[in-house]
Amino acid sequence: MTSPDHAFPDLRPACIPAEPERWSAKSKTSLPYQLGWVKHYTDKAYVCRTCGTSCVFTAQDQMYAYEVKKAYIDQQRTLCRPCWNHSNDIAAQLRSCASKWAEEKTSLNNNVAFLTEWLELLKQRERYIFTNPDTAQKNMLIKLIRQAAAPALSSSPRAPS
Ligand SMILES: [Zn+2]
Repeated sequence: MTSPDHAFPDLRPACIPAEPERWSAKSKTSLPYQLGWVKHYTDKAYVCRTCGTSCVFTAQDQMYAYEVKKAYIDQQRTLCRPCWNHSNDIAAQLRSCASKWAEEKTSLNNNVAFLTEWLELLKQRERYIFTNPDTAQKNMLIKLIRQAAAPALSSSPRAPS
């Protein structure tokens, strides 16, 4: 068994040079660009906000994010890879719900299965997106589900107890 004292011999954060000239136009309006703060990218430890897994936003990933994908320089990682992927899946399914809705609103208006699935996706997304819960959209769906379910309830009244 390795003793704890020797368990982390090579965990110094990796460090690679930054090329801020490759950042997005928006990143170049930032203070870090204008004041020339970022000379290197260094591995950054973080904890996934959804599942609590310890993760590293590596220097290499940062270079890719800011210089190749042109992410804004303030953008940090908050999710681990599996949570990030799941979050993207949910976002894609939500976009598909929204475009179906735009095309077939009148028929989907009382489609309880569709409305319930959409509402469930919105709730799931809140596990990953922390800033901006879509309360208005959720309330609209809850209202439509109640309305759509109401005729079914009234046509099959409960037997008196
Ligand atoms: Zn996670």
